[in-house]
Amino acid sequence: MATERERLHNLFPDLDFDPEALRAKYRYERDRRIRADGEDQYLEAEGVLAHFAEDDPYAEPIDRAPLDMELDVVIVGAGFSGLMTAARLKERGITNFRVIEAGGDFGGTWYWNRYPGAQCDIESYCYLPLLEETGFMPKEKYSYAPEIFAHTQRIGEYFGLYPNTLFQTRVTEVRWMEEEARWQVSTNRNDRIRARFVIQATGPANRPKLPGIPGIEEFRGHTFHTARWDYDYTGGDHTGGLTKLRDKRVAIIGTGATAIQCVPFLGEYAKQLYVFQRTPSSVDLRGNKPTDESWYKNLEPGWQRARRENFAAVLTGQLVGEDLVADGWTDIARRIGISLMNRRQDAGDLDMEELMLRAEIADFQKMNEIRGRVDSTVEDSDVAEGLKPWYRQFCKRPTFNDEYLATFNRPNVELIDVSDTKGVERITEHAVIANGKAYEVDCLIFATGFEITTSAHRRVDFDTIGRGGQSLYEHWRDGFRTLHGLSSHGFPNWFTIGINQNGLSPNMTAMFDDQAVHVSYIIDEVMKRGKQVAEVTTDAESEWVTQIVNLAGTGASAFLQDCTPGYYNREGKGTGGNMQNSPYAPGINAFNALLADWRQQGDLAGFDLR
Ligand code: NDP
Repeated sequence: MATERERLHNLFPDLDFDPEALRAKYRYERDRRIRADGEDQYLEAEGVLAHFAEDDPYAEPIDRAPLDMELDVVIVGAGFSGLMTAARLKERGITNFRVIEAGGDFGGTWYWNRYPGAQCDIESYCYLPLLEETGFMPKEKYSYAPEIFAHTQRIGEYFGLYPNTLFQTRVTEVRWMEEEARWQVSTNRNDRIRARFVIQATGPANRPKLPGIPGIEEFRGHTFHTARWDYDYTGGDHTGGLTKLRDKRVAIIGTGATAIQCVPFLGEYAKQLYVFQRTPSSVDLRGNKPTDESWYKNLEPGWQRARRENFAAVLTGQLVGEDLVADGWTDIARRIGISLMNRRQDAGDLDMEELMLRAEIADFQKMNEIRGRVDSTVEDSDVAEGLKPWYRQFCKRPTFNDEYLATFNRPNVELIDVSDTKGVERITEHAVIANGKAYEVDCLIFATGFEITTSAHRRVDFDTIGRGGQSLYEHWRDGFRTLHGLSSHGFPNWFTIGINQNGLSPNMTAMFDDQAVHVSYIIDEVMKRGKQVAEVTTDAESEWVTQIVNLAGTGASAFLQDCTPGYYNREGKGTGGNMQNSPYAPGINAFNALLADWRQQGDLAGFDLR
């Protein structure tokens, strides 16, 4: 039996690094970041912190009388998932519905996130939905936020959704009324809305979260979360021009995908910028480029679905003739094999252990390149050392940016590593305290992310009460329980578009689109069949949960467990042994095919129709 070292040497005779040393380094960097309080370290944006999430800097307040309405469908949320669901309902001729949205326009995450440099990191031709339907051509391979926001408005106009939408309205409760077989939807404007169906489309990044840093509420300077960028204070717009920061000392806490995009702009304009970093991001090349108009105009009908499927196929390790997107994501996926859950199709006779080892070595090589990029960009070697990520590529969302690292060569920009103290120590009236030193600042920006994988009740700010007065979050207390991630037993005529127990992809809009098609089909069928109620049966729900658990490879679970903490692994807790919260392991293309087969079958299997 070959030793690990011999096996490595046989497989990779030319390795120029020591995998065991890297493993040890990754383990060390992970362990010293693990906090006992896990996800509880984060504060919800409520109470004295509510203004971080509730203030809408982008819309004039409106005043309107409460509404009294009887509807077929209520969709909660007008981000991409809600928009696409509304569009798909309209396509089916269902028009007696309202979308209820807290923001002042369509867009969801792209309504709220207007920070400078905000950009999609999935290719726009795959990410921006309904391009063929609306005839729109994105200007570049990776669109900036205003173009994406404008596209959500375009979809709203194209499908005539503005009259169907109640903006600047927050849902406060959704409650099933058994006798009427209706949902009662309450809002912060005292509306009385009854609907046969409710679709929760609240999106994964809808609630900003804040770090539980002692003293956070004491700060007396200017402060905001990146999801509520205050251009009145900074000056400028998404393209920069933050001239009002010329005389300001600014601190930003957090170095995830958001900070990577906005830090270059802060560095360019602030008198002084302190970047408080707990874990560095992996920052790869962006390489954006303008759309080739003649290529775009000559694409065949159906190209967008084909392209999204090709992208997903590469990302799940399926064999494809051509990698159409050919970017940072697909490069990583082809080299490492993004899907650690299922055996790659081209695995041939390789055993699983060898496959995993090959993936790990490719990962080390990729991350060595990422770290090498830091060395070749950042002039000060100590700063460069601090900016190097020591974990596997998919432990955190990979980022792509051509200016972030070079920002640390500016004399007015300082990187403050707070990894030793597991985060910023304290905030006072005018300073951020880290490593025993007070950094006096005028402005404090939180780039600390969203309630994406925290417990289900934290992710939305209202409760859903189903049959028998049961809360949805009570039903999901020990893990998600759904059929296809889309509906649950005890919650009749209720659906959700989202990221749980379904085919996951970093290209969120592609996930939402097929779910929207599916849910609108079910609602249409229930109405056409003259039924009042469609409810997932306990058996169907249990079978789906079992399938999710059985398919979820232990490889993925172990991988996440070993990762540096973050929202991907619930701050280092991984799945906690609960595989119920796993996605549908075969991936998004397989999931969409499964939904299409289910619709084809035509019997609404798993639903009890009454
Ligand atoms: P993240 O959750 O990715 O990052 C939060 C940051 O805050 C981390 O760097 C975290 O450090 C840091 N942090 C938290 N608490 C403390 C503390 N007490 N002291 C110091 N630092 C702290 O949020 P983002 O908003 O950056 O990104 C969220 C997600 O939104 C992305 O992963 C992505 O899915 C999406 N997004 C997508 C973009 C796109 O291009 N399409 C762009 C931006 C965001 P640590 O890592 O140590 O926990």
